[in-house]
Amino acid sequence: MKVAVLGGGLAGSECALNLAKAGIDVELYEMRPRKSTPVHKTSEFAELVCSNSLKSMEIHNAHGVLKEEMGIIDSVLLKVAKMSAISSSRALVVDRNIFSRKVTELIESNSRIKSIREEVTEFPDADFIVVSTGPLTSNHFANYLKMKIGEDFLNFYDAVAPVVLAESLDYSKMYFKDRHGDDDEIYLNIPLTKEEYLRFVNELNDAEVHQPHLAEDKEYFEACLPIEIMAARGEDTLRYGPMRPDGLTLSWSKEKPYAVLQLRAENREKTLFSIVGFQTQMTMHEQERVFRMIPGMEMAEFAVYGKVHRNTYINVPRVLDNYFRLTKMDNVFFAGQLLGTEGYVEAIWGGLLVSIFIIHILKKGVPPELPPVTTMTGALLDYITHYPHEDFKPMNANFGLINNVHFGIKGRDRRIYKAKRAVKDIAEWKDKNLSGIF
Ligand SMILES: Cc1cc2nc3c(=O)[nH]c(=O)nc-3n(C[C@H](O)[C@H](O)[C@H](O)COP(=O)(O)OP(=O)(O)OC[C@H]3O[C@@H](n4cnc5c(N)ncnc54)[C@H](O)[C@@H]3O)c2cc1C
Repeated sequence: MKVAVLGGGLAGSECALNLAKAGIDVELYEMRPRKSTPVHKTSEFAELVCSNSLKSMEIHNAHGVLKEEMGIIDSVLLKVAKMSAISSSRALVVDRNIFSRKVTELIESNSRIKSIREEVTEFPDADFIVVSTGPLTSNHFANYLKMKIGEDFLNFYDAVAPVVLAESLDYSKMYFKDRHGDDDEIYLNIPLTKEEYLRFVNELNDAEVHQPHLAEDKEYFEACLPIEIMAARGEDTLRYGPMRPDGLTLSWSKEKPYAVLQLRAENREKTLFSIVGFQTQMTMHEQERVFRMIPGMEMAEFAVYGKVHRNTYINVPRVLDNYFRLTKMDNVFFAGQLLGTEGYVEAIWGGLLVSIFIIHILKKGVPPELPPVTTMTGALLDYITHYPHEDFKPMNANFGLINNVHFGIKGRDRRIYKAKRAVKDIAEWKDKNLSGIF
């Protein structure tokens, strides 16, 4: 029995090491150093390409919960990160060289893992394949993937609008209505007066923006204009674009608002709303400042910040099943950023889950039960596999994914409640499903 893991980044390294731990032979393909991506600098496995932070360790933070759960289900790279930590009190900040060196040593000294330093251009011969070639998958292989899964299901860049938690919105200042009359339960509208609109456009014009990581990112701006670039093109550009009030006459006054900011439900439970058409390059701090000026969004909590960047990812709900397998080739799994998750920790998480799914199938004949949606793991998995719209966008860990708790508790207390329940539930899931498989 042989598993081929394609790409030795964060997801691929985690997956390979776990499979090997369970006694499964792995061929791990990595194209570096023969060929590199525009951002990797070394030949090590699991290189951190930008920041050296694996985000918060605190339990009232969504990334703190995700890491707590990954610790319970025994993530190898999380252990290595803790061993390589420069600081681990509030955030897990690592020495990037020590981290990737240690992962490389673990892989190279493991007799079950054969590392093959070459570019994959097609699926190799193996019983199971894990595709984890990341956001900068080589062009050659990306074209092959496109052919295998369908032209429309592989994306090459990400134009993300901010996503906010429903529980942080003031619904008294907004109303549900679909401008086409199709589904009045999905779109939440915030009417703006002329004065409010002009003040908002002014703030967009003054806001600080990120400079792109890659030169090619600028091309994507033209294909999908960030909101601040639209605002700079003229005072009325937004009012005739994503903020147009057409079809959104106020039911109580029959007045047409001057402009409208639209929010769209991002999941079936309506716990998350994105700002329609608002992809942006503003810094996170500026997104909070500028969007909280909008009536009803004064206390908005951000689950995802807007961005426009190069990113290869697949349309998960259209092509994968609940276990991250291609529906038309169920021995081919996806992990990491390709899976439509965003961030280092989420990439490791994907590699960990896929390894567990494969080990369970090999040892018990079937995949495990899915983790419950009360856990960050189950909720993130459920979100990406059941995203309800056509334009699937990557997601990161956040508390809006875990359904609301209706106990009248709010803010930090609600997050702590959800976190404690998540940790208890993932431990139970592990005891029920994973005992004896390693
Ligand atoms: C420029 C940039 C900056 C980012 N900064 C951050 C950040 O600061 N914090 C954060 O949390 N997330 C960040 N991310 C997002 C994401 O978390 C990382 O990209 C993360 O490394 C993704 O993990 P992965 O395992 O999916 O891919 P990677 O870690 O990129 O691993 C993929 C591996 O596959 C290899 N590969 C590609 N094609 C082939 C092929 N055909 N054959 C063989 N090998 C191949 C690559 O060389 C690479 O080693 C960033 C992403 C980008 C693009």
